[in-house]
Amino acid sequence: MDPLVIIGTGLAGYSLAKELRKLDAERPLVLLSADDGRFYSKPLLSNALAKGKEADALATASAAEMAEQLQAEIRSHCPVQALHPAHREVELADGERLAYDRLVLALGADPIRIPFAGDGADEVLSVNDLADYARFRARLEGARKVMILGAGLIGCEFANDLCQAGYRVAVADLADQPLGRLLPPESGAALRDALAKARVEWHLGTGATRIDRAGDGYRATLANGETVEADRVLSAIGLRPRTTLARDAGLKVERGIVTDRLLRSSDPHIHALGDCLEVEGLVLPYVMPIMNGARALARTLTGTPTELVYPAMPVVVKTPAHPVVVSPPPMGSEGNWRTEVDAEGTAGFFESADGALLGFALTGSRVAEKQALTKRLPAVLAASGRADAA
Ligand SMILES: Cc1cc2nc3c(=O)[nH]c(=O)nc-3n(C[C@H](O)[C@H](O)[C@H](O)COP(=O)(O)OP(=O)(O)OC[C@H]3O[C@@H](n4cnc5c(N)ncnc54)[C@H](O)[C@@H]3O)c2cc1C
Repeated sequence: MDPLVIIGTGLAGYSLAKELRKLDAERPLVLLSADDGRFYSKPLLSNALAKGKEADALATASAAEMAEQLQAEIRSHCPVQALHPAHREVELADGERLAYDRLVLALGADPIRIPFAGDGADEVLSVNDLADYARFRARLEGARKVMILGAGLIGCEFANDLCQAGYRVAVADLADQPLGRLLPPESGAALRDALAKARVEWHLGTGATRIDRAGDGYRATLANGETVEADRVLSAIGLRPRTTLARDAGLKVERGIVTDRLLRSSDPHIHALGDCLEVEGLVLPYVMPIMNGARALARTLTGTPTELVYPAMPVVVKTPAHPVVVSPPPMGSEGNWRTEVDAEGTAGFFESADGALLGFALTGSRVAEKQALTKRLPAVLAASGRADAA
């Protein structure tokens, strides 16, 4: 029997492999990875500086140890060049073709790169994996000030971590507040003020247009005409699902690789999971959706078709200067934010016209309410009730 092949050894690829092995110890399993195949927890990348952690300390197992643990063949530094669904084969860099019985695309997402003007634009850093983090740490050697482009989840976490590690930090974002897509204005303001107290210099409502070299560092020119000098520039603008392999192979792709509720792509022998996935219009690049998806897909791949269901999955933003937990309302929900503010924190409740709680945003001391509120939320992706879905 040809093996089950998983492309990707991030959280999605490895979580699926672990779930599969709980259900089937024998099935031939191959994992292919463009990186070195070490196991690490990606969320730790944005709070490791203050703890003084090197990249190597964040990796908890080598590819060889994972292969032993999973009873799988793991080929690291093995970027897949093309998929050949008609032959059920993947093509590797050296032209070798590997046959599969089922294929899972767990390819992750790429940081969005904005084509800035200026001679420093190509040197803007981003951190999306262990190798990026190692490079970032090396580039921080001797630096005192870091400019961060983007005040989303990753930008805010790095801003907090860099401040805590003793760097000066400037952050620019087109939105008027940090976490603009996740928080109501009052909560955004509380996070902004707490990070300002931790000495973050904000440039909100404006974005960088050019990055020029200036001495040993850089000068960022913002759309409002201001300039910011910094030793390093880190981009945290957002992520884009890796879809090229799937698109080139003729699979259905929109924002991500489109699957049904069985995580099956437009080719019935190919599945997708993790940051590259789009299901029912949802692209959710977080840990909890991956864990839910991995459990369901492992069952489906071992003979028990299991529909993907997402419960409410609050995301913890690692900003110790002012902790944040958010559970955004399901896509397209109609309603309004009602926000309570006190000296210690804020609690935003996204409610429908009839008062039902659809989402929440908690900051500061109010994060303690996470569990109680989560119980009141609707599922992000409820059981479809369709017999043919599973
Ligand atoms: C700094 C940071 C902090 C985060 N913090 C949180 C958090 O606090 N909470 C939370 O829920 N989420 C957080 N996230 C998001 C979460 O970490 C991701 O959703 C998750 O790790 C993605 O896992 P993945 O396996 O889908 O992708 P990845 O980990 O990116 O893995 C993709 C894999 O595919 C491989 N690959 C890609 N293309 C090819 C190819 N052509 N051939 C072979 N292999 C290929 C790569 O080498 C890699 O092994 C954070 C993300 C970042 C970047």
